[in-house]
Amino acid sequence: MVERWPIVIVGGGPAGTATALFLVRRRPELASEILILDKAIHPRFKVCAGGLIPHTIACLEELGIALEIPHVPVSRAFALTPAGTVEHNERRGFCTVVRRDCFDALLVDSCMRRGVTVRQGEKVLDVVEHAEFVEVKTERQNYRASVVVGADGSGSLVRRRVFGHDDRTIGRAIMADVSALDLHWAFPNDPWCKFDFRPAAEGLRGYAWMFPCSIDGTPHWNVGVYSSQAKAQGCRMNGLLEKALSRIGARAVRSCAYPVRLFHSRTRLATSRVLLVGDAAGVDPLMGEGISFAFEYGRLAAECIAAWREPGSDGVAAYERMVRESWLGRKLRRLNMLERMFYGRTSKFWFWFAVSSERARRVGLRWYSGQDGWDQLSLPRGLARLGQEAISLMRGLL
Ligand SMILES: Cc1cc2nc3c(=O)[nH]c(=O)nc-3n(C[C@H](O)[C@H](O)[C@H](O)COP(=O)(O)OP(=O)(O)OC[C@H]3O[C@@H](n4cnc5c(N)ncnc54)[C@H](O)[C@@H]3O)c2cc1C
Repeated sequence: MVERWPIVIVGGGPAGTATALFLVRRRPELASEILILDKAIHPRFKVCAGGLIPHTIACLEELGIALEIPHVPVSRAFALTPAGTVEHNERRGFCTVVRRDCFDALLVDSCMRRGVTVRQGEKVLDVVEHAEFVEVKTERQNYRASVVVGADGSGSLVRRRVFGHDDRTIGRAIMADVSALDLHWAFPNDPWCKFDFRPAAEGLRGYAWMFPCSIDGTPHWNVGVYSSQAKAQGCRMNGLLEKALSRIGARAVRSCAYPVRLFHSRTRLATSRVLLVGDAAGVDPLMGEGISFAFEYGRLAAECIAAWREPGSDGVAAYERMVRESWLGRKLRRLNMLERMFYGRTSKFWFWFAVSSERARRVGLRWYSGQDGWDQLSLPRGLARLGQEAISLMRGLL
């Protein structure tokens, strides 16, 4: 049997659900034309620290989704770097930590409540693009879609089938959850998180982290290590995680690892009927943060699909250009550059600079967390603002 659907989204994680939610927000009448297929049944476990930056919280508010799941708001962060340790306090919130089983289930539920059809426990096995439609084969049946959105994560089948295999830009993160009740020190009333960049001085293109979280009502620490180079650094990452766990007195904790696909400016993101969002497209190479990008890819994909429904449109191929020219593409390109600066040969200088200038840190963090409109400025206005900031920074350092 072949079922016909105008829009099929493969994957019901943040990227797939955000695409559906932004599309329905823009064109509510399209809800009945969207089918989300997910091989998992939500709530499902996902290897992820669940740190939501303020931009993600703003996206949820924009979509009218209340964060009615257990979450830990964090306003204090410590960064341990080869040039020293700094503390950052953010009154308005540094990040919010969720568990992905609850968070993704909330997003899937929001889609269903808005009239989107979600079929769970249905794995997509193949995707074949034809001139007039896209064939999607699952373990249950076949579908014919006018447009397919590949939101199936870093190992994306849609990406492999449509654009070919490419593992040049795969990062990796490994993590473990430690119950705070098993440790000999109290869980703080004012939870903080920690980023340890010191391994960058020994060649790790990444960092170790510690996030507070709540699992089944019990306080936990999520401890992990990220590297933008999956292949070269697997063994070193395991060693670093063990070291981080033993430092807090946690032993014999089960760890799990997962790839993170990183953005590359030359990666293909769309054909005339298939487009990629979220990890399937590529996310932040500096920190491996992907949830806020999942929402932003989803927003652009929705914009593009809505325009494609207008008469005279020539498919969704424009999406690739839209991503590159949008502030999302600009931010991802800048993060690529920062990854080379902080984890490359000039690493020492940039950590020294970040530790020495509180203003640089503040500006950088506000940009990173999406509280600042830097990437939305036109080139001349951006350059003018950069000039002003550079002068203030020099004054601060001298
Ligand atoms: C250890 C670790 C820690 C991380 N910590 C953070 C963090 O703190 N903050 C942050 O922002 N990001 C973090 N990330 C990155 C973040 O997890 C991803 O960027 C994010 O999950 C991407 O969302 P997505 O919707 O694109 O993909 P996913 O969340 O991977 O969702 C893909 C969905 O597609 C489904 N699927 C896959 N294949 C198929 C198929 N063949 N058929 C049907 N369905 C399919 C899956 O079941 C899944 O539900 C971390 C990653 C790792 C590995």
